[in-house]
Amino acid sequence: MTSNQTHIIVGASLAGAKAAETLRQEGFDGRIVLIGAEEERPYERPPLSKDYLRGEVGREKVYVHDEGFYAEHDIELRLGRTAESLDTSSSELQLDDAERLRYDRLLLTTGAEPRRLPIPGAELDGVMYLRSVQDSDTLRARLDDGGAVVVVGAGWIGAEVAASARQRGLEVTVIEPASVPLERVMGAEVGAIYRDIHTDHGVQMLLGTGVEAFVGDKAVERVRTSDGRELECAFVVVGVGVQPRIGLAVRAGIAVDNGVLVDEHLQTSVPGVFAAGDVGNAYHPFYEDRIRVEHWANALNQGPAAARNMLDQSVAYERLPYFFSDQYEVGMEYTGFARDWDRVVFRGDPATREFVAFWLVEDRVVAGMNVNVWDVIDPIKRLIGERVTVDDRRLADPDVSLEELAHVDGGTVA
Ligand SMILES: Cc1cc2nc3c(=O)[nH]c(=O)nc-3n(C[C@H](O)[C@H](O)[C@H](O)COP(=O)(O)OP(=O)(O)OC[C@H]3O[C@@H](n4cnc5c(N)ncnc54)[C@H](O)[C@@H]3O)c2cc1C
Repeated sequence: MTSNQTHIIVGASLAGAKAAETLRQEGFDGRIVLIGAEEERPYERPPLSKDYLRGEVGREKVYVHDEGFYAEHDIELRLGRTAESLDTSSSELQLDDAERLRYDRLLLTTGAEPRRLPIPGAELDGVMYLRSVQDSDTLRARLDDGGAVVVVGAGWIGAEVAASARQRGLEVTVIEPASVPLERVMGAEVGAIYRDIHTDHGVQMLLGTGVEAFVGDKAVERVRTSDGRELECAFVVVGVGVQPRIGLAVRAGIAVDNGVLVDEHLQTSVPGVFAAGDVGNAYHPFYEDRIRVEHWANALNQGPAAARNMLDQSVAYERLPYFFSDQYEVGMEYTGFARDWDRVVFRGDPATREFVAFWLVEDRVVAGMNVNVWDVIDPIKRLIGERVTVDDRRLADPDVSLEELAHVDGGTVA
C-alpha cells in the first residue's frame, strides 16, 4: 500500500512536473507535493529565447500541462514557495514559511541559474539575464523598443537571443572570448559555421575578446571590451552559462560536485532522495562516467526515470544526451556527447546549411549534429550507442544511407 506515503518534488519545472505526472501514471496513490519557487505553473524554457521571445506564440504554448492537470491528478502544486532546508535523518523538508513536510521519497529538480558576471556596472539597469518567463517578457519589451543590443557570450542562449533580436530588426553585437561561437561543445570548425550564419544575418561578432565593464549612469549605456572598445547600447543580455542550484542539497549534507551527485538510478548519496534534470550530475552507464546535461530532453526524460526509481522500479537512466537549437532558419539536433575528438566528418556541404556533422574518436562516432536535415536521429543514435565502426568516406557520402551504416533493422534506440 502506497496510499499513506508522501513523495515530495522540489522544483516545479519540466523535470519536476514530468516526475509528478509519472508517479501518478505508475499508479502511486499517495500524496504528491510539487514545490516551486516561481509563481508560474511548470513551463518549458526553450521557447523563451525563440518564438515566445519574439512574440510569435503566447504564454499558453509554454506550459508543461493544462491548468487543471495538477488538481485533476491530485498533485499538490505549491507555487511561490521555496524549500529552505532538508533534514534527511528525520525525512523532513522545511519551506520558507516554516511549514514542515514529512516525506517518504524526495526528488530534487531545482535546476540551474545563470552565472553572473562580476564586473563593474553589473548592477546597472538594462543588464539582463534570461532564465524565467518573466525574464523573457522583460526582454521582449526591450526588443519592442528596438535599438542596439550587446549580447555577452556566444553559447546557446547568447546565440539564440542574438538571432531573435536580429529577426526583430535590432542592431546586434555579440562579444565572446573564444575564437568562434559554441566552441566548447562543437569545436572551432563547426563553431565557425555558426559564426558565419550570424554574420550573414548582420550580427557583429567580436570574437576573442571579453567584457571589462558596463558603463552608464543608472542604466547601461556602453559596454567596455577587454581589447579597449566602447560599444553604445540600449541594453545588454548576458549568457555566460549556468550553474546548478545545489544550495538545499549542500545544506542537507548531500554529496555534490558540479551538481548533485547521483548514480544511474538518479539516487543521491542519501537513500530515498533523488535528483534529476539540470541539477543532477548523473553516472551514465554508457560513458562510464558522470555527466551533467543542461538540456530540455534530459529534464523531460530524467524526471520520469527518477519517479520510477522513487517507486523502487530500479530503472537505470541510459539515454544518450540530445538537444536542439533554432537560430534564424537554421534548426539543428545534436546527439551524443563529445569531450574530445580526433576529427569532424561532414555529410553534405556546410555552406548550404543542410548537413550532418559527426565527431569521431578513432573509427567511431561519439556525437552527431543534423542541421536542417531531419529524421536521422535513430541511425545517429545507433552509430553512437552501438559503437559502430565507420569509414570516413562512407560516412561523408550522402549516397550511402545512414541506416545502412548503422545497420538499422527497423528498431529504435533509447
Ligand atoms: C532561454 C532558454 C532556452 C533554452 N533552450 C533550449 C533548447 O533550445 N534546447 C534544449 O535542449 N534546452 C534548452 N534550454 C535548457 C532547458 O530549458 C533546461 O535544460 C530545462 O529547463 C531544465 O529543467 P529542470 O526542470 O531540470 O530545471 P529548471 O528549468 O531550471 O527548473 C528548476 C525549478 O526549480 C525551482 N527551484 C529551485 N530551487 C528551489 C527551491 N529550493 N524550492 C522551490 N523551488 C526551487 C526553480 O525556481 C525552477 O523553477 C533552454 C533554457 C533556457 C533558459
